[in-house]
Amino acid sequence: MSTTVARDARVLRWTGRLSDLAPSDRTSLLQRAVKPDSGVERVTASIVESVRSRGDKALFELGRDLDRVSLTSLEIPREKWRQALETIPPAVRGALERAARNIAAVHSASLPCTIVSEPEPGIVVTRRPDPLDRVGVYAPGGRAAYPSSVLMGAIPARVAGVREVILCVPPGSDGAPATVTLAAAAIAGVDRVFTIGGAGAIAAMAYGTETVPRVDKIVGPGNACVTEAKSQLAGVVATDTLAGPSEVVVIADRPATSESVIAELLAQAEHDPAAVSIAIILDEELAAAIMDELPEAIAREERAGIIARAMATAGGVLLAESVDSATEFVSWFAPEHLVLALSGAEEIASRITTAGTICIGSGCSVAFGDYLTGANHILPTGGAARGSSGVSVLDFFRWTTIQRVSSEARRRVADDVEIFASAEGLPAHGRAAAVAASAASVTAEPSPVSVRLDDNTIVSPPSPAVQRALAAVKPDSISAYPNVRGESARNALANYVGAERDSITIGCGSDEILDAAFRAFAKPGEAIAYPDPTFGMVPVFARANHLKPVPLPFARGGDIDRSGLLADDPAIIYLCSPNNPTGAVIRRETIESVLRDATGIVILDEAYAEFADSENVDLVPKFERLLVLRTLSKAFGLAGLRVGYAIGAPSLITRLNEVRPPYTVNAFAETAAIAAVGPGLGWMQERVAETQRLRKRLITALAAGGMTVLPSEANFVLIVGIDSTAAGAALERSGIRARVFQELTGIGDAIRLTVGPWPVMEQAIAILRETTQ
Ligand code: PMP
Repeated sequence: MSTTVARDARVLRWTGRLSDLAPSDRTSLLQRAVKPDSGVERVTASIVESVRSRGDKALFELGRDLDRVSLTSLEIPREKWRQALETIPPAVRGALERAARNIAAVHSASLPCTIVSEPEPGIVVTRRPDPLDRVGVYAPGGRAAYPSSVLMGAIPARVAGVREVILCVPPGSDGAPATVTLAAAAIAGVDRVFTIGGAGAIAAMAYGTETVPRVDKIVGPGNACVTEAKSQLAGVVATDTLAGPSEVVVIADRPATSESVIAELLAQAEHDPAAVSIAIILDEELAAAIMDELPEAIAREERAGIIARAMATAGGVLLAESVDSATEFVSWFAPEHLVLALSGAEEIASRITTAGTICIGSGCSVAFGDYLTGANHILPTGGAARGSSGVSVLDFFRWTTIQRVSSEARRRVADDVEIFASAEGLPAHGRAAAVAASAASVTAEPSPVSVRLDDNTIVSPPSPAVQRALAAVKPDSISAYPNVRGESARNALANYVGAERDSITIGCGSDEILDAAFRAFAKPGEAIAYPDPTFGMVPVFARANHLKPVPLPFARGGDIDRSGLLADDPAIIYLCSPNNPTGAVIRRETIESVLRDATGIVILDEAYAEFADSENVDLVPKFERLLVLRTLSKAFGLAGLRVGYAIGAPSLITRLNEVRPPYTVNAFAETAAIAAVGPGLGWMQERVAETQRLRKRLITALAAGGMTVLPSEANFVLIVGIDSTAAGAALERSGIRARVFQELTGIGDAIRLTVGPWPVMEQAIAILRETTQ
């Protein structure tokens, strides 16, 4: 290659063999992070200072002097971006919404959870992730529009649960940002949009002005002044890693084609004349073909001018002797994007720990990740990938550590604290420890519980779609009464479960409907029969409505006692599938046979149906005595909003509503329900799939640890044959609350554990193992 691929400074900066690179070449490749020239530093400093001291006034002047627009307002009203959403072509909207869904899905999957550790008995340290309060997203604009940057910055912040997300985007020549950027703001669920560009925007968000609120963190790419402003404002506001020009390294070998390698290089180079596009090629012929075809390929591009400058300034095609020398290059170069277009890519990727993102295979273009895979495209450049990562939900959390030291532990560790303190020459520290150790506890020992795995809810915030919908609830819908029976949500839920509208009613949790059903379908003194053990509220509601609870133990093998349930013709038979607390599903044939012979009403509680492979709402049109109960408290993660619903023959629904008060579904609950089964549906399905995976893993791990777990199709498992009181207390000491049962019929003592994030599951398994040994 040294002969076939000559140094051609007109087309490429770097050519030849990788091993022939002179030390000075290596240094300039390594130290490519561009330092701003002193002009940029000076201009930025004066912008930052004028925004700090004169606020809005400075921003209007910057709009006039730098963006050449005379702004009448810095903020773009919400109606404008809502309108933008209606104005953009449907195909563009579809692509943006698809990208938004994928970003939300990918980022929801890496939400952090509270971590509790107990390094010594009585010393409990909790690390709690708290979403930031307010985040500012910067999206570049001016001549070009970058709606993708809006999505990449704002959606992860929303998923993290940031209370307020604001966006700054430079004005176009007409004084407003591009319509497509505004539409992206609406899709991403941004709260406020400001038309401010460059360093002024960064300073405004860092300090706050009369109009722009001060933020806790700023993310998003920008030009040299934006990056410089972030660097000058370090200490005033947190930011993402400082962005330099885009970069790609493609490692390729046959059978990758010259066309595919060139396409990746040019795609990166079209960003910016300073972009870095480097191919490390393992095959001489491939390298020669790339070199041959490159000039013409550049000339054919729409942005040929920018690309040609980029390739001549920082482009390269280098021949590597081996995969190892190519990966060694990557490990010190630390590219923003790495494409592995060669066989063995998976294995190579497993060894590379310094790339912002890795695309596996020549078919995995960086462009997919730039827009649609849901991975974040705000990535570290200039070698920063050695120590930093791309933007993720984790960027929008800060951690609080909470420490608890029991009185017994205080006495145990005080000596070592004193020794340590005197070694550091800080004797007052030692005395403080001694005083604390000898003092009686003035406050009760606080309960360290921070993860609740006792109520089968989802241990994470609800879907971004729901959060966005809730944030948009209008104040006047709070002062007015809601719909009498949550009719809009009812229609959405009818759609979701495939029921007719007159066959469904919703309420304040399925609890409210269950209680009403007992009143509606049985008279005081009549019997309600149910398999035992089951949902604990059943006997409670029965007694509250003066009914006679008739518990019937499950038969051996886990089947329900069909004839016992039907005996004496109870007014109501209650079945729960999957059953709480066992997790078992009742077979469909069994349910049908009970329905055929029942003379009263059969309530089938499917609170956990989404987690199981069985659903029975479709039996409703066939059996007029069937009432199926469902809830958004579990799979949809909306327990705090209280939405339950029932599906049954219209006559049952009418009767049920006669015994219930109106307005049991409030405006927030109704809004959340509509979003949950609409745009939030994919989120729920992913959560359920993840829960099913974790459930399997949990059951296997518990069994491997010598515990007995009942098979479960719900989002919880029941661990039996255990000293549940001791196990529950041990879990509680480590901050995990599980549900402790004593003497369950036919089962005995048991612990019910909601399936939660794996690190918590691991911790719970370890504690349970210890207590069962
Ligand atoms: N049914 C079953 C089986 C349950 O486990 C629960 C709650 N734990 C409910 C109904 C009540 O759910 P909600 O009122 O939140 O809809």
